[in-house]
Amino acid sequence: MSNITNLIDKALKEKVFGNFEFRPNQRKTIEVICEQYFNDPHGTIILDAPTGTGKSIIALWCSYILRQLGYKGYLITSDKSLQDQYEKDIMGYKMGWSSVRGIDNYECDLNGLPFSVGECKMRGYSLQQAEKLSCGKTCGYIISRKKAMASPITLVNYSWWMIQQNYVNLKIAQKQHKLQNKEPGPKALNDSERLEIDDFDNFFPFKKRDFAFFDEAHKVDEIVQKHFSPILKKFPLFKTVDLIDFMVSEGIGAPTAGKSYIEKLMDEILDANQNEEMVFKLNKLKGFLSLILKRRGDLEKQSRFKFGYDVDSPLPKKWKKAFGQLDYLKDVHCKIEDYLEIVEREGLESMLFSKNLQDGEIKLMCLSEAAMIRKHLHKRSGFKVFMSATIGDPKTYCKVMGIENARVIKLNNDFNYEKSPIIFVNRFKMSMQHKQKSLPEAIKVLDQILNKHKDQRGLIHTGSYEFSQYIKQHSSHIRRIIEYNNSSEKEDALIKFKKGINGVIMGPSILEGLDFNDETCRFQIFFKVPFPSLGDPLNLAKMKKSNNWYDWKTGITIQQGIGRSIRNPEDWAITYILDACFSNLINKVDFLPDEIKNRIKIIK
Ligand code: SF4
Repeated sequence: MSNITNLIDKALKEKVFGNFEFRPNQRKTIEVICEQYFNDPHGTIILDAPTGTGKSIIALWCSYILRQLGYKGYLITSDKSLQDQYEKDIMGYKMGWSSVRGIDNYECDLNGLPFSVGECKMRGYSLQQAEKLSCGKTCGYIISRKKAMASPITLVNYSWWMIQQNYVNLKIAQKQHKLQNKEPGPKALNDSERLEIDDFDNFFPFKKRDFAFFDEAHKVDEIVQKHFSPILKKFPLFKTVDLIDFMVSEGIGAPTAGKSYIEKLMDEILDANQNEEMVFKLNKLKGFLSLILKRRGDLEKQSRFKFGYDVDSPLPKKWKKAFGQLDYLKDVHCKIEDYLEIVEREGLESMLFSKNLQDGEIKLMCLSEAAMIRKHLHKRSGFKVFMSATIGDPKTYCKVMGIENARVIKLNNDFNYEKSPIIFVNRFKMSMQHKQKSLPEAIKVLDQILNKHKDQRGLIHTGSYEFSQYIKQHSSHIRRIIEYNNSSEKEDALIKFKKGINGVIMGPSILEGLDFNDETCRFQIFFKVPFPSLGDPLNLAKMKKSNNWYDWKTGITIQQGIGRSIRNPEDWAITYILDACFSNLINKVDFLPDEIKNRIKIIK
């Protein structure tokens, strides 16, 4: 009997997880994952675990066993509700592990505002300086962060973890490198590629740990892209003029630049069409921001000289505004710096941008997602377990994720899907060229379905606000339909939906992260196949690069949508797909798993 088997038996006997009973395959999976850690401590596991297989419990058990053997790790989640669930389980099983959230989930005790605009932040204090304040001893974020550092297993979200691993740690490494090499080479301090941050791991508050479990891992590509895609906005940058004026009035020699200079700089960026030109302009902006940020220390000294070190008496408003703008510029500068470094590494051809000239905004993106994931995520993790209910085709997943070798574990939930057929109405295509002809017919079918389910709650996945509008204007069931037009309205719409008896929630983005179990939802309609939008230059470029990616993304989005309404073994819901474009996809190899394919009934 292996050591791992013994440890599981011991934990069961000692009721570490209470009166715990494993679901089918759970124990075996835990054993396989822990054994694999010993075979290859830097290896990767992909855990394809549909709803009902208890993947978060598998992650908790594995972490417990590996911890018993002396190892440390991270549990990484994608959103607040998932982190809530993990926290509840960790507390319920009395594991004693810590969780830390994004900084703005914590309030400053002094001004009641989120930590990022807390009284210390407004004065430009670093975290280390804030810790020394009297209120730092009781500050929610500082306490949680310290606990998380000391905890052998720490629960975090992707964004926070990536900031620690790639930004906070890099800054510490650069500082240490400077101390160790009094005269570094000209590029050495800025070139994170050459500076092996792993060599400085001992100095980091959140070190690279032995293992990491990444939940909702089908989203990693989007999360990493978003994290490293700077969005530059003309109007918030204009406030820099006030900041410079203020600094000059305080006798601090900031670069003199009027609104017209910043406007010209942003216009040049917005006008740039070639990648090379864009890099040049971004470097110019970065240089300008560096000059301002270099004087931040002087402004901090001045504020301490005038108002003292203590934060008890609030700083005058104009000072707070100045530090707030400096924080914003620091963030912009840091994102541009990271982005330029990625472009330098991955080549100019990996660079993409989209512009909103009316609002004066530009979004910068990078096509080499796999390389970004390798550098910013794989490299900072030891043993990795990527878990999701919708991995899709593992080969495509590995390609998207930059994984060279992985052991794939596929679990089945043994749900009985007899009452949950997927009815595909193969009549009307909802593609751009067919929609005008299809819509009047499709709406009739939609109304028939809504009539059939008149006493039940359901969902309509519209794929776009345009289709939502059409349904709203033409369906005879509009009184039952609850719609939302943006993410802020979504929350209210969901509350209304859950409170009602036969409401139908409609929207383009109710496909992920929501739990519509049992009577909450008995049917759902895909009015359109949720293809990634080709209006987004990144999706377009990725599709041109790989058709597999496009199919893979569509497939996992459909699976996510179908999974919203069947959450436990007794649960059931009927799915309807009204877009005939689906017929091009269903027979593709590995497009959908068997448990979905086997439920499809085609109506011509
Ligand atoms: S350290 Fe003090 S001033 Fe800073 S956010 Fe916490 S409570 Fe507020």
